[in-house]
Amino acid sequence: MATIIDGKAIAAKIRGEISAETAKLKEKGVVPGLAVVLVGEDPASKVYVSMKEKACADVGIFSDEYKLPAETSEQDLLALIDKLNMDSKIDGILVQLPLPKQINTDKVLEAISPDKDADGFHPYNVGRLVIGKPTFQPCTPYGVMVMLKEAGVELAGKEVVVVGRSNIVGKPVAFMCLQQNATVTLCHSKTRDLAAKVGQADVVIAAVGVPEMIKGSWIKDGAVVIDVGVNRVGEKKLVGDVEYQAAAERASAITPVPGGVGPMTITMLLYNTLQSARRRA
Ligand code: NAP
Repeated sequence: MATIIDGKAIAAKIRGEISAETAKLKEKGVVPGLAVVLVGEDPASKVYVSMKEKACADVGIFSDEYKLPAETSEQDLLALIDKLNMDSKIDGILVQLPLPKQINTDKVLEAISPDKDADGFHPYNVGRLVIGKPTFQPCTPYGVMVMLKEAGVELAGKEVVVVGRSNIVGKPVAFMCLQQNATVTLCHSKTRDLAAKVGQADVVIAAVGVPEMIKGSWIKDGAVVIDVGVNRVGEKKLVGDVEYQAAAERASAITPVPGGVGPMTITMLLYNTLQSARRRA
């Protein structure tokens, strides 16, 4: 059976390091600040935002919360972002997605100063990531990379297969693995013979959003499996994109769902905010 890569434990360790760093910065008079902007009443977004605020409080990051009505105009949201870009107490700006229909998401993400782009979604930072320059790294893929490192998985020369090519997970994680000298295959819904592609992987990273679509029987013996998927089945159960039990019988290491990649995402948001605040110290 595979070793479990415990996202909760890794996240707790990193949050401890962030708390210690934040305390040191405070001695120099710098309190890291994250602005969290929520537009509308989406219940899942409300939960994520409150989790992010609590996580900030736990590690000593100041979070400034803006809850705007669903009918907020694009112009008003852009004006708020301008104000936050100028605010010297704010090191990171997070606009919770999705935004209501009247607001152009790309325009909003591009309005955030690249220096305060704690989510790593600004095209300037995405470009820097692609060319291998230091930048804000998007939180979920960054969390995946930290988990691989903590689990002692060396990527150089390995075959990595990423399933899913979204801008927030699949594409950035593919470039991050390439930067670590892996040979990367990026699969998507038009990929032919996905089972064969997955079967060649030393490391499989699944970010699809379809419950258990990657079958355990596809996994090569001894491969490492990182499951980013979070899918609700029925009232309460959460499952990943990988058929966990069967995959765990073949893999050397695997992330569970829940308790795998999930806890890492907010952790890396805190980390990005801390990194940004360091410039003021
Ligand atoms: P997304 O934007 O919906 O992208 C899904 C990707 O999967 C697309 O590239 C799509 O291909 C591909 N795909 C869909 N069906 C496929 C199939 N049958 N075979 C191969 N590829 C297929 O999703 P996302 O935002 O990246 O999220 C993916 C999963 O990760 C979701 O379960 C989400 O909840 C989870 N997630 C978790 C965290 C976390 O913190 N743990 C954070 C973000 C996302 P096309 O491009 O061809 O359509």
